[in-house]
Amino acid sequence: MATLMDPLDDVLGAAAATPLADVFGIHTVEDLLRHYPHRYMTHGSELGEKEPPEGEHITIVATVESATLRSMKNRNGQFLAVTLAADGQRIEATFFSPHKLKHVVVPGRRGMFSGKVKYFGKRWNLTHPSYVILGGDGNDGAVVPAGRIVGGGTLAGLARGSVDASGAVDMSVFDRAFVPIYPAAKDVESWTFMRCVRNVLDQLDDVVDPLPESVRAERGLVDIDTALRSVHFPDTAADKDSARERLKFDEALAVQLVLADRRRDASTRVAARCPPITDGIAAEFDRRLPFELTAGQHEVAAEIANDLSAPHPMSRLLQGEVGSGKTIVALRAMLQVIDAGHQCALLAPTEVLASQHARSIRSMLGSLAAGGELGSHELATKVALLTGSMSTAAKRSALLDAVTGDAGIVIGTHALIEDRVEFLDLAMVVVDEQHRFGVEQRDALRAKARENTSPHLLVMTATPIPRTIAMSTLGDLETSVLTELPRGRSPIVSNVVPARSKPGWVDRAWQRIHEEVAAGRQAYVVCSRIGDDEDSETGKKGATKKKATSDDGPETTAAVDLYETLSTGPMHDLRVGLLHGRLPGDDKDITMSEFNSGEIDVLVCTTVVEVGVDVPNATVMVIMDADRFGVSQLHQLRGRIGRGGHQGLCIMISYLSPGGGSFARLEAVAATNDGFELAKLDLATRREGDVLGAAQSGTVSGLRLLSFIDDEDIIADAQDCARSLFARDPSLANNPGIASMMRSAWRSDRVDYLQKS
Ligand code: ADP
Ligand code: MG
Repeated sequence: MATLMDPLDDVLGAAAATPLADVFGIHTVEDLLRHYPHRYMTHGSELGEKEPPEGEHITIVATVESATLRSMKNRNGQFLAVTLAADGQRIEATFFSPHKLKHVVVPGRRGMFSGKVKYFGKRWNLTHPSYVILGGDGNDGAVVPAGRIVGGGTLAGLARGSVDASGAVDMSVFDRAFVPIYPAAKDVESWTFMRCVRNVLDQLDDVVDPLPESVRAERGLVDIDTALRSVHFPDTAADKDSARERLKFDEALAVQLVLADRRRDASTRVAARCPPITDGIAAEFDRRLPFELTAGQHEVAAEIANDLSAPHPMSRLLQGEVGSGKTIVALRAMLQVIDAGHQCALLAPTEVLASQHARSIRSMLGSLAAGGELGSHELATKVALLTGSMSTAAKRSALLDAVTGDAGIVIGTHALIEDRVEFLDLAMVVVDEQHRFGVEQRDALRAKARENTSPHLLVMTATPIPRTIAMSTLGDLETSVLTELPRGRSPIVSNVVPARSKPGWVDRAWQRIHEEVAAGRQAYVVCSRIGDDEDSETGKKGATKKKATSDDGPETTAAVDLYETLSTGPMHDLRVGLLHGRLPGDDKDITMSEFNSGEIDVLVCTTVVEVGVDVPNATVMVIMDADRFGVSQLHQLRGRIGRGGHQGLCIMISYLSPGGGSFARLEAVAATNDGFELAKLDLATRREGDVLGAAQSGTVSGLRLLSFIDDEDIIADAQDCARSLFARDPSLANNPGIASMMRSAWRSDRVDYLQKS
């Protein structure tokens, strides 16, 4: 008998095991059993109404309805034109070299047919499928001696290869209600998997269930032994569903256990206690605030103030649309930490944004940011900015402010978590736009706190994260959400322009910008690429000023080129600026502050403006090659406009055909401003594998069955389950099965995407 851990070499023999290992990296019994069928053949009904795509390999169990010998059109010879009937559907099949076949594939015979879909005009056909006639001599379901198996191709080969000790084949294997179809390859066909899995299941000892009985009973989950067997060979649809349900729960639970363990771990760490005080810089800042905090800001601020007062590090995610006032909330929290005598770091995803944060935080603090200067306020602190492109002298001075503790707030990009940046006493880290910072980076920052302590962590994001993704990637964080916008928001109107069929509309877009500028407003023109040196290297820049072609897609407009075209052409009478990531840091700052102050009318830029840039006077955004951007990226970009009292207009230009899926996606983005709805759309229009990276790619240890689109309930349930398991048994000493599930999740690439989140 066999166990999950046994090598397949021992169980199946080297001849069968070697290709599984070579092609799929499947080495053990468990590896094989976790290679689940990706679908089941259900005698044709699975075909549904839809026409299968050209080239798809399909398998059906069907009855031969008619079989007619026909002559080839263009050469000598005949073929057998067969009509198959399966669950009320008709499928055409063509067999070549029909002379033996015509005696076997005759009306009334039932068989299994497997082949590639090929279209001839509108009609599709299975061309020369492999097949096996089910039941010998009209004797359905019988055990057939190997010599009397009727069929051709792979299917027949498999049937002949499935003889048992008595030299016969149980044809019922092929005639099940659900025949498993596996992700297969040329050298390891689905049928090979089916045979190997059957073989392994026949030898497998009862699998011990890692889930406690009580957890299963509460949810009506089947035990793991049943699940592993019937996911491969279900007798009924209900069997299949309950097996998959159980296995999905296990996948969700493994991830949630890892996250719950991170939460538990954080709660055992020590952090600087920073209870609020009434006569410090925070209170002074509040006194000076020119506006009232919204109810939502008060609520979130109270949660954070409470977290900061505890002796354990805060781990909190603050979600809120752009402009919802997250930065103020974060700043007040940082001041509370400064009042307790410690330092804070604020991390931004780009240098532009870091500089912008520094500028706006200094201006919000006013004289409270003048720490160290002559005659400054006694409570004042210092705000230091540290970015990679600063001059050496400026960097040195910022580093000094961090290490001496003079700077209460140090603002920067990734550079802040480099080794040489040292803080005197870092007690809180604010991360703006979390999706650019992985778990490892969060951990690296933790290492910057005083010995044996961890800093409080506040992660801010304006990108709505679908609940399933949030639960599965950020489930170790507590969540706060700011829903109202303090200054209100004028709705943004969005249009999609098909530039190829309606070139005049592009000119109309430039005209709209003129109109807005005439009304005293400003505009963004966003490009998908910079296009400076790369293009001149390939020599394309000189050839076509406006467009560059590349081999890997349609031509796109480069920011550098469009800047030149617009400022010398349609917008020669406007003040046009250029902003992209490869400009020197000082140039970026100058351009950004000129745009801020209204000295630039039109900013041609790349996605450097995607997050956090706040110029309320900007009301139009033209997005070139909008199809090059993802759904949430478009929403982020568009969030730059309509931030003042004026209506915003977003024009998305695409050179793709209006009939295609990418264009439809743009229209869907144009149709709604609801960030959460768009986040869902994003998830649905991308392949899940893209969302989660390698973990979903169906390799040996990835998430296989769980869907982040469809399985929200399971994920939520698994989160509850994981948290309550840890609450009752923090070390999992009484739940060895659970502990082993968590360990295997850690070992496998199942949690890879956590690291990348
Ligand atoms: P976020 O970081 O969420 O995008 P910010 O904190 O930058 O939002 O706030 C956007 C703008 O709204 C800023 O100019 C800020 O000063 C202002 N603001 C924040 N809270 C309020 C409030 N309660 N009332 C009025 N204006 C506010
Ligand atoms: Mg912000």
